[in-house]
Parts: sequence; structure tokens; C-alpha cells
Amino acid sequence: MSQLGTEFLPLRVAIVGSGPSGYYASEALFKADPVVDVDMFDRLPTPFGLVRGGVAPDHPKIKSVTRIYDRISGNDRFRFFGNVTIGIDITVPELRDHYDAILFACGAETDNRLGIPGEDLVGSHTATEFVGWYNGHPDYRDRQFDLSQEVAVIIGQGNVAMDVTRILAKTVDELRETDIAAHALDALAESKIKEIHLVGRRGPVQTKFTPTEIREIGVLADCDPIVDPAEMMLNAASQAELDDASNKNAQKNYAALKGFSERTPAGKSRKYFVHFLRSPVELRGDNCVEELVLETNELGGEPFQQQAVGTGDRNAMPCGLFFRSVGYRGVPIPDVPFNDRRGVIPNEDGRIVDHDLPVPGLYVAGWIKRGPSGVIGTNKPDSQETVASILSDLPKLTPCAKRDTTLIDDLLKTRNVRVVSYSDWRAIDAAEIKNGETRGKPREKFTSIQEMLDVLS
Ligand code: NAP
Repeated sequence: MSQLGTEFLPLRVAIVGSGPSGYYASEALFKADPVVDVDMFDRLPTPFGLVRGGVAPDHPKIKSVTRIYDRISGNDRFRFFGNVTIGIDITVPELRDHYDAILFACGAETDNRLGIPGEDLVGSHTATEFVGWYNGHPDYRDRQFDLSQEVAVIIGQGNVAMDVTRILAKTVDELRETDIAAHALDALAESKIKEIHLVGRRGPVQTKFTPTEIREIGVLADCDPIVDPAEMMLNAASQAELDDASNKNAQKNYAALKGFSERTPAGKSRKYFVHFLRSPVELRGDNCVEELVLETNELGGEPFQQQAVGTGDRNAMPCGLFFRSVGYRGVPIPDVPFNDRRGVIPNEDGRIVDHDLPVPGLYVAGWIKRGPSGVIGTNKPDSQETVASILSDLPKLTPCAKRDTTLIDDLLKTRNVRVVSYSDWRAIDAAEIKNGETRGKPREKFTSIQEMLDVLS
């Protein structure tokens, strides 16, 4: 029998998910020696995952990475199967009949919970919902956020919290020429939000956002950043963390925050407060969120291992709109092992394991492999590691039974799945860009799957 990965027996790989990790895995496979066919599946008709549905509309430079993904998609051995949900339109055991290896790169689609009373009151949301809503993601286009409220509170101090708060803090003029969804721009134009509170459970040296993000808050057109100087006080362990020469981001973040604490507010329409050492313990309200109870924390532990410990000192503050932004979680896929505690697919170097034993032919990359950490580029070495595992397993992989590449198209056709190919996506892309032109936007996204399919009919 021929060896997998040759002209006679190309390695057939299915990649589930078309975000950065899926694309970097495709790139690594195409750069390797073996002959490889890649079919990339996505439940949406549109590719690029969080680059399209997660990256903030006012960060267009970050989105320009899609040019690289577009180039990878142009490889003759690459096919895109958009609008196909694995586990519904086709099961993983069925996919295994058609592919020698399946690589899951489907990200982390849900959020961690806080587990506090009142978390499910009307007016309490996840960052994911808001991000999906302003980015025109079909799952979130119909969400409602009560922007007639004056006080918004966001829990968590990572980059997602920065995105959410920045969009709330910006004027419509600062957002108008971005690819923000039209429904979000219209709603934000009516926003009555006056105060935005960014709340962290630890201190100003333990923030997770990156320096560019916090500096952006200092140059908003109509919003003053406000930090109480007392919040900038450090315990000995935090001072040691700050003094560590390798802790560059923390030093830059601290300097930006300190600058805010020394500023005299310019009397702008909105105020952006940053708070430290506070944890949410309860949301209160009759039918919807009216009040948030915060407990003051102290930090305990060695430098770089400090944890927030509640002091029992609690205070309530008014809150009309509440977001938690405390990390994403992966969602299980039918017939694929899942670590429910960590919200990831268990693996060793990208090889999926079940009770510590490798599952032949199944691989994983990106957030669903390592958890929701790092920036887009972090996924490149992560995907390369998984591809290296696939390539070193080549001699052991069992060739799939259904090798004719058209069989998968036929199967999906019999199930009435309207597969969106990469050239279909290019048609959708062109229509979105055209629709944006009249409004001076880089694109006006279609926000429903039907609208996207209508372009193709
Ligand atoms: P993150 O960076 O892990 O931040 C999560 C935040 O939530 C931390 O401040 C964390 O505090 C806090 N937190 C967690 N559990 C909490 C709890 N129970 N109570 C209170 N606070 C809690 O996650 P993220 O913001 O979702 O971002 C995910 C990844 O995407 C990150 O790597 C981020 O850099 C990346 N991203 C990048 C960009 C960009 O480059 N512009 C934009 C968006 C996202 P502790 O530190 O105390 O745990």
C-alpha cells in the first residue's frame, strides 16, 4: 500500500473551524513535504472566526491578517465548506470515513460564569454577546442591550473587557467609519451611558490587557479616564512584580494607569473609572439589574502568584448594564473527548487523548487546545506543533475508506446542506464591501445567514 501523503495517496485532513488556528494549521500542512488536501469546515458561511466576529471594529489593522488567510485559501488543495455544522450536518464518525486526520480548531465559543446571585437578571450580559452583537455575528444580532442606562460595569481586566468598554465609551463619530454592524451603530448613537466602570479582582500590576489597549482609553474623544490615586498603592509583592525587569507589559500598564490617576478630568460627557481589588458578589434588582455589590479584596501569596482574597468589606453601587468578561470556554463536540473543568479538548502536543490514551487521527489546535489565551499570532506556533504531531504520526495513520474528494460534497447535498465554498465567500465579501461603500465603511456585514445565502442565489 502507498504511503499517505504522496501523489497517489494524498493526506486528507478536515479542519473544523476557520479562525486563525485553523488557517495556521493549513499553512503548516501546505508548507510540509507530504501531499495534503485540506477541507476546512465552518458552521457559518463566512470564514476567519474571531478575526471577523471578535476583533473590535475600530482595530482594522488586526483584521488585515485575513489577507494571509485569503492567500492560503487560494491553494489548489484547499476547499472551504462553510455553513456546515459538525455534529449536526455531519457527525465526527462520518467525517472519519472521509479524512485521514481531523483537526479541531473551533475556538472557545462560550463564557465563564461568575456564579453569583442575580447573574441571570435582565441587564446582565456576557462580553461574548456584546462583542458578537456589535460585530454583526448571526448568533447575536438580535440581542438587546439597554443603552438608556447611565451606569455600565464590566468585570474583568483583559483585552476583551477593554474592547467592550472602549466601544461603550467611544462617540458614534469614532465608530462610524469602521465595519461595526449598522444595528449596533444605530443603538450606540442613542446611548445614554455616562459612566463605565472596569473592575478587576486583583491590582494595577496584575491587569491582563496590553499597553496599547489601556493607552487608547486615554485619548478618547469624549470620555475621561479616572483612577483614584489610592487604587495605585501596592503591597510589597506587587511592588516586586512591578520591579521585575521582564514584566514589561505590567510596567507599561501601570504607568498608563498612574498617568490617569494624576490627570484632572477634562469634563467630557462620559467617565471611565478603573477599579482594583474588588470582586462582584451579588447583582440586585426587581426584574432587571439595578445594583451591584462588590467585595473589597486583599492580595495574598508570593510575587506572580498572588490571589485575591475577600476581606468581607462589601459596598453596593448603582448598575444598569452589567457585563462579565472573565474568560472564554470551549464547547464540547459530540463524539470528541472534552475536559469539562478546563473547557478544552484534552490533548498531548495537539494529539487528542481520551483518558490519557491518544485517539488515532484526531487532533486539536488553538483555544480549544490550550484555553483562551494569547493574541492571534500565538496560534501560529500552537498550530505548527499540532501539524508536527500529525506529520510524525503519518506512518501510523489508517487511510480513510472514502477517498474520492467529491463524496463529501455528495453526502452534504443529499442532506440539503447549502455548502458555501470559498468562491461563494468571495461573492459575499464583495457584496459586503460594496454595501459599505455608500456609508464610508470598509464593509457592511450581512448579519443573518439567509442574507448571505441570498447573495449566492
Ligand atoms: P483574559 O485576558 O484571561 O482576562 C480575563 C480577566 O478576567 C482577568 O482580568 C481575570 O483576572 C478576570 N477574571 C477571571 N475570573 C474572574 C472572576 N471569577 N472574578 C473576577 N475577575 C475574573 O481573557 P479575555 O479578556 O477574555 O481575553 C482572551 C484572550 O484574547 C487574551 O489572551 C487576550 O489578550 C486576547 N485578546 C486580544 C485582543 C487584542 O490583541 N486586541 C483583543 C481581545 C482579546 P485574574 O487575572 O485575576 O485571573
